Amino acid sequence: MGSITPLDVLIVGGGPVGLALALDLGRRGVRSTIIEQRSDIDTEMRAKASVLDERTMEYCRLLGVVDAVANSGYPDDLSGDTAFSTSLNDKYIGRLRMPAAKDRPVPPESSEMMRRCPQFLFDPILARAVVAQGMTDIRYGVECVGCEQDADGVTVSAKSIKDGSSQQIRARYVVACDGAASVLRKTLGIAFDGQNLGYSTSVIVKVDLERYNSFGDGKAERYVFIAPEGAWGNFTTIDGKDLWRFTVVGVTEKIDLATLDIDTPLRKALGREDAEYEVISMSQWRRSQFVAEKYSEGRVFLAGDSAHVMSPTGGHGLNTGLGDARDLSWILQALVEGWGGPRLIEAYNTERRPVAVRNSSTSSRNFQIWKDRQGRDKVLETSPEADEQRRILGEKLAAVVAQEFQALGIALGYNYGDSPIVVPDGSVAPPDDAEIYIQTARPGHRAPHYWLEAGKSTIDLFGKGFVLLSLGPDASDDKQSLEDAAHEAGVPLECVAIKNAEVADLYQSRLVLVRPDGMVAWRGDSLPENVHGLLDHVRGVSTIKSE
Ligand SMILES: Cc1cc2nc3c(=O)[nH]c(=O)nc-3n(C[C@H](O)[C@H](O)[C@H](O)COP(=O)(O)OP(=O)(O)OC[C@H]3O[C@@H](n4cnc5c(N)ncnc54)[C@H](O)[C@@H]3O)c2cc1C
Repeated sequence: MGSITPLDVLIVGGGPVGLALALDLGRRGVRSTIIEQRSDIDTEMRAKASVLDERTMEYCRLLGVVDAVANSGYPDDLSGDTAFSTSLNDKYIGRLRMPAAKDRPVPPESSEMMRRCPQFLFDPILARAVVAQGMTDIRYGVECVGCEQDADGVTVSAKSIKDGSSQQIRARYVVACDGAASVLRKTLGIAFDGQNLGYSTSVIVKVDLERYNSFGDGKAERYVFIAPEGAWGNFTTIDGKDLWRFTVVGVTEKIDLATLDIDTPLRKALGREDAEYEVISMSQWRRSQFVAEKYSEGRVFLAGDSAHVMSPTGGHGLNTGLGDARDLSWILQALVEGWGGPRLIEAYNTERRPVAVRNSSTSSRNFQIWKDRQGRDKVLETSPEADEQRRILGEKLAAVVAQEFQALGIALGYNYGDSPIVVPDGSVAPPDDAEIYIQTARPGHRAPHYWLEAGKSTIDLFGKGFVLLSLGPDASDDKQSLEDAAHEAGVPLECVAIKNAEVADLYQSRLVLVRPDGMVAWRGDSLPENVHGLLDHVRGVSTIKSE
């Protein structure tokens, strides 16, 4: 048995969420260790997530990998279109048109646009950044098998994949980033509540799709095949070139992959018996909507797929997981450095769990649109009525599937208004709408973006410690008492004055306290008399007393 080494933070699982968390902790000066059961990051063709939403891209900007993501090799001139048909060589139904990244503007509410960067490119970008940063010890080929905890720390039991030898790793805090089948979540007995939406089979296939696309309307990012019983399969690009994920959607029982005939549906989709393609790998996955009943137990936290899984329709799974990492990194920093209180642990659960419930429900709703059978009974027929049905269906599908990609509200509009470490100001939250996002500096919401100068956004000011913004032409000097209190408590705090009146209008208060994760903790026109109470509230030590 190996020696017991006390670590500050042990991350179990070196997928994208574990890596992003390590990178964020590292830039905060907190060292971490990752154990990952795979032998290294590049061993698997990870053809899952691809859509990185605006908030994730803002996070990539903070983590210093935004250029690497934008230049990942995924073509920025490929349209984001989704084409609907009965097969590539049969009946055309319609097309949702989405401009390529190079033709899309950055939305005015963000410093970044949504991008595609498939996981087989994204995960190595994060892994290389973690290695270059030098703050994390990544141990590949080590599998976590369980854990025990006491008042002072957690002992994780692990074994070497190579020789089976066991080791125990002692850490003050452990984060389970070990995916949907999380060993740690199961060890802790945390229930995973939700619903199974069916099994899907995906194959990674190398094929020149344009050769078989008889509709002559240019390359799409995704081809969805419709039958009277709903959408039965799709090709989704992996690399924007000739690698595709072909998915046969939704059967209720598990399939034996060894005996599965994948050629029949592949040829049906390509519309040719003699179609040429190369199947690279095949897997089966469960489409589901599950959220952990709680996000922590003692000193162990759940993040990413270990805490929630959702249908990929909309591409919110990874983005939601990276939101967990962003919230948890400063909480862990505060706990490790000793300036955070126990209510931070409760806050993580209160803040992040509702976001997963919301995003997973939206993803399931998106999936129901795919499975809808209405107005599809004639799609395979040849007649003027069938032509008309396909035309109407095409228009309808383009409109409703667009909601998967026009989800600025999902990306940026979540809020932590009910958090025990946010101070409400009595204002009313804007409607929580998947598509529409209205910037607000209401406590619990993401601090709004505004270009202060070319290439410098307000949100670039946030991401290390707390930031107290003094806003407006008569920006207040009322900051000393909070600075003194923060200094005394060891809380990192920076004060920034911005005279620009538009920023003041956007933030709607003369003083705004922004958290290390870029969310607003408090706002007002002057500091409260009891600044210690305010500080203790936002760092999770105690609840502010009303004055
Ligand atoms: C078909 C498909 C398409 C998707 N598309 C999108 C999309 O477009 N956008 C989006 O946001 N999301 C998408 N998702 C979801 C996304 O892939 C996941 O949400 C994301 O990978 C979760 O990251 P993670 O780091 O939490 O978990 P994982 O990626 O599952 O990583 C977990 C890591 O932990 C390791 N591990 C597991 N158990 C142990 C153990 N006991 N000991 C040590 N290591 C362990 C694993 O080897 C793995 O490396 C899609 C998913 C699927 C299936």
